[in-house]
Order: sequence, then C-alpha cells, then structure tokens
Amino acid sequence: LTATLTTPGSSPGGSPLARRVIEVCREIAGFSESRSCTTRTFLSPPMHAVHKLLRTWMSGLQMNSHVDSAGNLIGVYSGAGTGGRPCLLIGSHLDTVPDAGAYDGILGVVLGLALIEALDGDSLPFDIEIVGFSEEEGVRFSTPFLGSLAYIGQFDPKLLNLVARDGVSVETAIRQFGLDPAGIPACSLSSRGIGALGYLEFHIEQGPVLEHLNAPVAAVNGIVGQSRYQLSFHGQANHAGTTPMSQRADALAAAAEWILEVERMARAEDGLVATVGRLSVTPDAGNVIPGQADASLDVRHLSDAVRVRAACAILAAAARIANARGLRVGSSLVLDQPAVVCDSSLVKRLERSIAATGLAVHTLSSGAGHDAMILARAVPSAMLFLRSPGGVSHLPAEAVIEADVNVALAVGLHFIRSLETMS
Ligand SMILES: [Zn+2]
Repeated sequence: LTATLTTPGSSPGGSPLARRVIEVCREIAGFSESRSCTTRTFLSPPMHAVHKLLRTWMSGLQMNSHVDSAGNLIGVYSGAGTGGRPCLLIGSHLDTVPDAGAYDGILGVVLGLALIEALDGDSLPFDIEIVGFSEEEGVRFSTPFLGSLAYIGQFDPKLLNLVARDGVSVETAIRQFGLDPAGIPACSLSSRGIGALGYLEFHIEQGPVLEHLNAPVAAVNGIVGQSRYQLSFHGQANHAGTTPMSQRADALAAAAEWILEVERMARAEDGLVATVGRLSVTPDAGNVIPGQADASLDVRHLSDAVRVRAACAILAAAARIANARGLRVGSSLVLDQPAVVCDSSLVKRLERSIAATGLAVHTLSSGAGHDAMILARAVPSAMLFLRSPGGVSHLPAEAVIEADVNVALAVGLHFIRSLETMS
C-alpha cells in the first residue's frame, strides 16, 4: 500500500496525498487568535475558518457535515449506505495550546479526511464519521476534553458555568460562536443512534521514543495513569555558619537524597516514569540551613497496580530517608487518575496493519492524555502515533515527516479494509 500511494515527484517515501495532509495542517495553523503564532482555543473566532476549510473538503468527498452544539465538527462518509449501519469513528481535536505547532490534534482530523479521499468513493459495509473535537487542551477554561465529553454524552451541565480569564463562560462562548448549548445532550453518540465499531485517533507521539527506534509509527496500547503527590520535609532552619554538620536537620539535603532515590526506583521498573518537577525551600536564604522543603511527585505507568505500588514505595523511601536524618515528612495525594487501556482487538488490528506495510511493529503506551482516553469510556478505542522529529511538541517547531504520514495513511487504509470483513 505504501508503494501504491507513492508517486514520482514526492519526497522519498512520500506521496501527493501525504504532502497535502501536511499542507492542510500548515494552512490551518494560520487560523489563529494571534498574528505571530498559532493559538486556537475552544470556539474562538478562528475556529470558524477551520470548520469552513474542512467542511469544504468534506463536501467534495460527498460527506454530510455539521457542527454540533458543543462545537465538534462532524463529517460522515456513507459509502453506499441507507442509514442505521455501524460506524467507524476517526478523529482528534481542533484546538491548540498557546504558541502551538501545526500538527497536535489537527493531524488526526486531516489524516482521517485524507483516508476518505484515498477510499476514492468506494462503498463500505459501514459508515465512517470523521470528528474534530472542539476542545481537548483545557486552555481556555482550564478544563480539558469539553468536546469529547459531549460527544459521548458525559458533558456535565455544570461545565457550562466555567468562566475563562476574560470573564466569558462556556455557555456564552458556545452562544457567541452561534451554537445553542441546549442542544448538547443531543450531541452524544447514543442520542444520535450511532452504533460505533470503534474509535481510531492518529496523533503525533509528542515524545522521542519513535525517533529513537527509527520507526515512523506505533500502535498505542493505552494511556498511562497518574499519581501526583505533594511532600513536605520538615527539618530545622538554623545559621549556616555556626551549626556543625553533625547537628543539622537539613530539609533540602533530605529532599535531594530522596529525589535521587525516586530516579533510581523509576529506572528499575519497566515503563515507569517518576518526576519531581517542583521544589521550594524555606526560608530560601543562602546563609540559612533549609528548615522545610516542599516537593511535587508525579508517577505514571500503564498498569495501575504497578503505579500505585511504585508510588507507595517512593513515599516509604521518603519516610526512611527523613527518619535516618532526624526529620519528619508529610505527603498528600493530589491526583489519582487511572490508566486507560486501548481495546485489545483494535490494537491487534492496528499492529497487523502496520506489519502489512512491511514495517517492524512497535507498540507504545501514551504518557500524555488524549481524546481517545474519553472515547474509550463509551467505544472500543485505539490510537496510532506518528514519529515526532526531535521529540518536539506544543511548540512551533513541532513537525511530521511526509513519509511517516504516508505510512500512517497506508496503515489506516489497511485498518479500514480489514474492518470490511468484520462488520
Ligand atoms: Zn493532542
């Protein structure tokens, strides 16, 4: 399939369709709240231009499109259907972080439309719905996934009362965009009578693993769970000149010893990541022994059991280290978010589709949250990661390689064709 999509004149391993995907993503990056960079938050004015461009493409592909009351853009490819058929969902988000790159989110929507284009009007025994979620990043209202929550019927009406820094509520933002918040309950898959075969999300990896493996794509087997804690080491502040080394209770030295232990313990467990990202010292003076050190702890793993066990062991290490130094340590749990496991049969299907392109099959877990995490509550879900050059994301330097996009198209087409025999 890779070969059939490749034509002379494109870059090595690329194709006109893959190049078009990149060009469309770059054009959409110009639809921004800022003149100098790409920033596009939930239902801000430039989202109108995104909808217009994508809906024009959809109508050229004989797709019916609409924007639902939560601002999600939806286009349906019906092949030769008469309605009431199962539906494959393909999508990602249309919003961005401030000063964003051109691919996070939007690539998954544009790739979906490119796949419809590659189907070239073929009739399938199921529909394909391409969805561009209105909100995933949580930038405007400090709450993520507003679009996908509405899509699966889990949009809590209280979310309408959230207020952004500019004083605008979610409800007002929806009205200002020309939509009716009262229609949100009717946006859900179940209200619309959609029987979903599954949800597939193409997304840039946003990390360095695929580049390190020299691989263009990987199947995603799940999204890791997170434990976040806040710790305080309590020692004794005192004069840095007059207190002998043997008579100190240095809270920062204890925290430092513990941080190295966190690193050692995380390295010892496959797939575990643990980070102390914040540290503050009291009284924070160059000539005073630190009396207190407050530290954050972030622990992630695809297995909730491994994550919880590791977090407990890390907290026990803090107590042990503090105790040996004559200090006290306290901790509080800030966040306990379970892992989301992708649908194993869809993941296997994706892995077979990768193998069918002649590539080595890699399977990763995602360290970041995605719409697939929300969709998985309602629909069998899977993701395909594309290599992020330099591991860079959430920055203007974010990129994709044309040949990798071409591989993703080939994998996606194989995946769609393989579902024909299933539905
Ligand atoms: Zn994203």
